[in-house]
Amino acid sequence: MSKTRRPLIAGNWKMNGQSSDVSGLIGDLTRRLSTSGPMPFDMLVCPPFTLLSQAVDVVAGSGLLIGAQDCHHEEKGAHTGEISAAMLADLGCSHVILGHSERRTDQAETSQTVHAKTKAAWAAGLTAVVCVGETDAQRDVGDTLDVVGTQLSQSVPDGAAAANTVIAYEPVWAIGTGRTATPDEAQEVHAFIRAKLDNRFGNPGTQMRILYGGSMKPGNAAELIALPDIDGGLIGGASLNADDFWAIGCSCH
Ligand code: PEP
Repeated sequence: MSKTRRPLIAGNWKMNGQSSDVSGLIGDLTRRLSTSGPMPFDMLVCPPFTLLSQAVDVVAGSGLLIGAQDCHHEEKGAHTGEISAAMLADLGCSHVILGHSERRTDQAETSQTVHAKTKAAWAAGLTAVVCVGETDAQRDVGDTLDVVGTQLSQSVPDGAAAANTVIAYEPVWAIGTGRTATPDEAQEVHAFIRAKLDNRFGNPGTQMRILYGGSMKPGNAAELIALPDIDGGLIGGASLNADDFWAIGCSCH
Protein backbone atom coordinates (compact mmCIF):
# COMPACT_ATOMS: atom_id res chain seq x y z
CA MET A 1 0.00 0.00 0.00
CA SER A 2 1.45 3.40 -0.87
CA LYS A 3 2.07 5.85 1.96
CA THR A 4 -0.44 8.59 2.60
CA ARG A 5 1.92 10.61 4.81
CA ARG A 6 3.72 13.45 3.04
CA PRO A 7 7.47 13.22 3.68
CA LEU A 8 9.13 15.87 5.82
CA ILE A 9 12.78 16.74 5.17
CA ALA A 10 14.08 18.55 8.25
CA GLY A 11 17.51 20.09 8.69
CA ASN A 12 19.13 20.46 12.12
CA TRP A 13 21.97 22.96 11.84
CA LYS A 14 22.98 22.39 15.48
CA MET A 15 25.53 25.04 16.64
CA ASN A 16 26.48 26.03 13.09
CA GLY A 17 25.71 28.98 10.89
CA GLN A 18 26.13 32.75 10.63
CA SER A 19 23.85 35.34 9.10
CA SER A 20 25.55 34.88 5.72
CA ASP A 21 24.32 31.26 5.74
CA VAL A 22 20.74 32.40 6.07
CA SER A 23 20.92 34.53 2.94
CA GLY A 24 23.14 31.92 1.24
CA LEU A 25 21.89 28.45 2.18
CA ILE A 26 18.31 29.22 3.21
CA GLY A 27 18.03 31.77 0.41
CA ASP A 28 19.13 29.07 -2.07
CA LEU A 29 16.56 26.55 -0.77
CA THR A 30 13.86 29.21 -0.83
CA ARG A 31 14.60 29.98 -4.47
CA ARG A 32 14.53 26.30 -5.41
CA LEU A 33 11.20 25.75 -3.65
CA SER A 34 9.70 28.86 -5.20
CA THR A 35 10.71 27.94 -8.75
CA SER A 36 10.43 24.13 -8.77
CA GLY A 37 6.66 23.82 -8.85
CA PRO A 38 4.95 21.49 -6.37
CA MET A 39 7.42 19.14 -4.68
CA PRO A 40 6.46 15.83 -3.02
CA PHE A 41 7.81 16.82 0.41
CA ASP A 42 7.66 19.46 3.13
CA MET A 43 10.98 21.08 3.99
CA LEU A 44 11.96 22.44 7.41
CA VAL A 45 15.20 24.13 8.47
CA CYS A 46 16.15 24.51 12.16
CA PRO A 47 19.02 27.00 12.51
CA PRO A 48 20.30 28.26 15.89
CA PHE A 49 18.17 30.73 17.86
CA THR A 50 20.32 33.66 16.73
CA LEU A 51 19.34 33.19 13.08
CA LEU A 52 15.63 32.40 13.44
CA SER A 53 14.27 35.89 12.94
CA GLN A 54 16.35 36.46 9.80
CA ALA A 55 15.44 32.98 8.51
CA VAL A 56 11.70 33.59 8.92
CA ASP A 57 12.04 36.77 6.85
CA VAL A 58 14.05 35.06 4.08
CA VAL A 59 11.58 32.16 3.60
CA ALA A 60 8.45 34.35 3.53
CA GLY A 61 5.99 33.07 0.94
CA SER A 62 8.16 30.13 -0.22
CA GLY A 63 6.64 27.34 1.86
CA LEU A 64 9.99 26.57 3.49
CA LEU A 65 9.36 26.02 7.20
CA ILE A 66 11.54 27.33 10.02
CA GLY A 67 11.91 25.66 13.40
CA ALA A 68 14.07 25.86 16.52
CA GLN A 69 16.27 23.23 18.14
CA ASP A 70 14.87 23.48 21.68
CA CYS A 71 12.57 25.48 23.96
CA HIS A 72 11.95 25.86 27.68
CA HIS A 73 9.03 24.01 29.26
CA GLU A 74 7.55 27.13 30.86
CA GLU A 75 5.82 29.95 29.06
CA LYS A 76 7.82 32.76 30.68
CA GLY A 77 9.55 33.77 33.89
CA ALA A 78 12.86 33.79 35.73
CA HIS A 79 14.91 31.44 33.54
CA THR A 80 17.95 33.41 32.46
CA GLY A 81 19.19 32.52 29.01
CA GLU A 82 16.19 30.37 28.10
CA ILE A 83 13.77 30.71 25.17
CA SER A 84 10.08 29.80 25.44
CA ALA A 85 7.90 28.12 22.84
CA ALA A 86 5.69 31.21 22.80
CA MET A 87 8.71 33.33 21.80
CA LEU A 88 9.44 30.96 18.92
CA ALA A 89 5.84 31.04 17.74
CA ASP A 90 5.87 34.83 17.99
CA LEU A 91 8.90 34.89 15.65
CA GLY A 92 7.09 32.78 13.05
CA CYS A 93 8.57 29.34 13.77
CA SER A 94 6.29 26.37 13.10
CA HIS A 95 8.33 23.52 14.64
CA VAL A 96 10.73 22.82 17.47
CA ILE A 97 13.08 19.85 17.84
CA LEU A 98 12.87 18.35 21.35
CA GLY A 99 14.85 15.63 23.09
CA HIS A 100 17.69 15.44 20.57
CA SER A 101 20.24 12.91 21.84
CA GLU A 102 22.89 15.64 22.07
CA ARG A 103 20.67 17.50 24.55
CA ARG A 104 19.77 14.28 26.38
CA THR A 105 23.55 13.81 26.84
CA ASP A 106 25.00 17.35 27.08
CA GLN A 107 22.16 18.88 29.12
CA ALA A 108 21.09 15.63 30.85
CA GLU A 109 17.61 16.13 29.43
CA THR A 110 15.21 13.41 30.54
CA SER A 111 12.12 12.12 28.79
CA GLN A 112 10.07 13.83 31.53
CA THR A 113 11.61 17.17 30.52
CA VAL A 114 10.92 16.43 26.87
CA HIS A 115 7.32 15.61 27.79
CA ALA A 116 6.92 19.01 29.51
CA LYS A 117 8.59 20.83 26.61
CA THR A 118 6.32 19.08 24.12
CA LYS A 119 3.25 20.31 25.99
CA ALA A 120 4.71 23.83 26.03
CA ALA A 121 5.32 23.62 22.28
CA TRP A 122 1.73 22.55 21.64
CA ALA A 123 0.37 25.30 23.89
CA ALA A 124 2.23 27.82 21.72
CA GLY A 125 0.87 26.26 18.52
CA LEU A 126 4.18 24.66 17.48
CA THR A 127 4.67 21.17 16.10
CA ALA A 128 7.08 19.18 18.27
CA VAL A 129 9.72 17.03 16.58
CA VAL A 130 10.37 14.52 19.38
CA CYS A 131 13.63 12.57 19.08
CA VAL A 132 14.23 9.05 20.37
CA GLY A 133 17.05 6.58 19.79
CA GLU A 134 19.35 4.03 21.35
CA THR A 135 23.10 4.16 21.91
CA ASP A 136 25.56 1.70 20.45
CA ALA A 137 25.88 -0.10 23.79
CA GLN A 138 22.11 -0.42 24.15
CA ARG A 139 21.81 -1.89 20.65
CA ASP A 140 24.67 -4.29 21.31
CA VAL A 141 22.86 -5.85 24.26
CA GLY A 142 19.56 -6.07 22.40
CA ASP A 143 17.81 -3.22 24.24
CA THR A 144 16.95 -1.07 21.19
CA LEU A 145 13.19 -1.56 21.22
CA ASP A 146 12.95 -1.30 25.02
CA VAL A 147 14.90 1.96 25.06
CA VAL A 148 13.02 3.50 22.13
CA GLY A 149 9.63 2.32 23.48
CA THR A 150 10.32 3.80 26.91
CA GLN A 151 11.60 7.13 25.52
CA LEU A 152 8.56 7.33 23.26
CA SER A 153 5.97 6.64 25.94
CA GLN A 154 7.63 8.96 28.48
CA SER A 155 8.44 11.82 26.08
CA VAL A 156 5.19 12.06 24.11
CA PRO A 157 2.19 13.40 26.07
CA ASP A 158 -1.42 12.33 25.66
CA GLY A 159 -3.02 14.29 22.86
CA ALA A 160 -0.28 13.72 20.29
CA ALA A 161 -1.52 13.70 16.71
CA ALA A 162 -0.14 14.17 13.21
CA ALA A 163 -0.95 17.89 13.38
CA ASN A 164 1.13 18.62 16.48
CA THR A 165 3.85 15.96 16.62
CA VAL A 166 6.54 14.40 14.45
CA ILE A 167 8.71 11.58 15.81
CA ALA A 168 12.38 11.33 14.81
CA TYR A 169 14.09 7.98 15.28
CA GLU A 170 17.81 8.73 15.54
CA PRO A 171 20.09 5.88 16.56
CA VAL A 172 22.76 7.72 18.55
CA TRP A 173 25.53 5.64 16.99
CA ALA A 174 24.53 6.90 13.53
CA ILE A 175 24.47 10.64 14.32
CA GLY A 176 27.38 12.46 12.73
CA THR A 177 29.38 9.23 12.45
CA GLY A 178 28.89 8.37 8.79
CA ARG A 179 27.35 5.05 9.94
CA THR A 180 23.73 4.72 8.85
CA ALA A 181 21.21 2.15 10.03
CA THR A 182 20.63 -0.46 7.35
CA PRO A 183 17.18 -0.33 5.78
CA ASP A 184 16.19 -3.44 7.78
CA GLU A 185 17.42 -1.97 11.06
CA ALA A 186 15.66 1.33 10.44
CA GLN A 187 12.40 -0.19 9.22
CA GLU A 188 12.23 -2.56 12.20
CA VAL A 189 12.36 0.35 14.69
CA HIS A 190 10.05 2.58 12.63
CA ALA A 191 7.44 -0.19 12.39
CA PHE A 192 7.74 -0.69 16.15
CA ILE A 193 7.22 3.06 16.76
CA ARG A 194 4.28 3.09 14.36
CA ALA A 195 2.66 0.16 16.21
CA LYS A 196 3.17 1.92 19.56
CA LEU A 197 1.61 5.15 18.24
CA ASP A 198 -1.25 3.23 16.68
CA ASN A 199 -1.89 1.39 19.91
CA ARG A 200 -1.86 4.52 22.04
CA PHE A 201 -3.39 7.15 19.77
CA GLY A 202 -5.40 5.20 17.17
CA ASN A 203 -5.69 6.73 13.75
CA PRO A 204 -4.12 10.12 14.64
CA GLY A 205 -1.05 8.17 15.70
CA THR A 206 -0.94 6.14 12.53
CA GLN A 207 -0.83 9.33 10.48
CA MET A 208 2.03 10.82 12.53
CA ARG A 209 5.23 11.25 10.56
CA ILE A 210 8.25 9.27 11.73
CA LEU A 211 11.57 10.61 10.44
CA TYR A 212 14.85 8.73 10.30
CA GLY A 213 17.98 10.58 11.42
CA GLY A 214 21.61 9.49 11.43
CA SER A 215 24.06 10.25 8.63
CA MET A 216 21.32 10.56 6.02
CA LYS A 217 22.76 11.87 2.75
CA PRO A 218 21.88 11.95 -0.96
CA GLY A 219 23.40 8.49 -1.48
CA ASN A 220 21.25 6.66 1.09
CA ALA A 221 18.13 8.81 1.42
CA ALA A 222 16.01 7.32 -1.37
CA GLU A 223 16.34 3.78 -0.06
CA LEU A 224 15.47 4.81 3.51
CA ILE A 225 12.59 7.14 2.66
CA ALA A 226 11.03 4.49 0.40
CA LEU A 227 10.58 2.15 3.39
CA PRO A 228 6.97 1.71 4.54
CA ASP A 229 7.31 3.46 7.92
CA ILE A 230 9.91 6.14 7.15
CA ASP A 231 8.32 9.49 6.37
CA GLY A 232 11.38 11.62 5.72
CA GLY A 233 14.56 12.57 7.53
CA LEU A 234 16.06 14.68 10.28
CA ILE A 235 19.37 15.65 8.79
CA GLY A 236 22.36 17.21 10.50
CA GLY A 237 25.58 17.42 8.49
CA ALA A 238 24.03 17.19 5.03
CA SER A 239 21.58 19.99 5.81
CA LEU A 240 24.51 22.45 5.81
CA ASN A 241 24.92 22.04 2.06
CA ALA A 242 22.04 23.25 -0.13
CA ASP A 243 22.75 20.80 -2.97
CA ASP A 244 22.86 17.80 -0.62
CA PHE A 245 19.82 18.84 1.39
CA TRP A 246 17.80 19.54 -1.74
CA ALA A 247 18.90 16.20 -3.26
CA ILE A 248 17.62 14.40 -0.15
CA GLY A 249 14.27 16.10 -0.67
CA CYS A 250 14.26 15.06 -4.29
CA SER A 251 14.67 11.41 -3.16
CA CYS A 252 11.03 11.51 -2.03
CA HIS A 253 8.36 10.19 -4.38
C1 PEP B 1 21.06 14.97 13.77
O1 PEP B 1 21.79 15.74 14.37
O2 PEP B 1 19.87 14.96 14.07
C2 PEP B 1 21.64 14.12 12.73
C3 PEP B 1 20.92 13.16 12.26
O3 PEP B 1 22.94 14.41 12.34
P1 PEP B 1 23.71 13.77 11.07
O4 PEP B 1 22.77 13.80 9.90
O5 PEP B 1 24.90 14.64 10.89
O6 PEP B 1 24.06 12.36 11.45
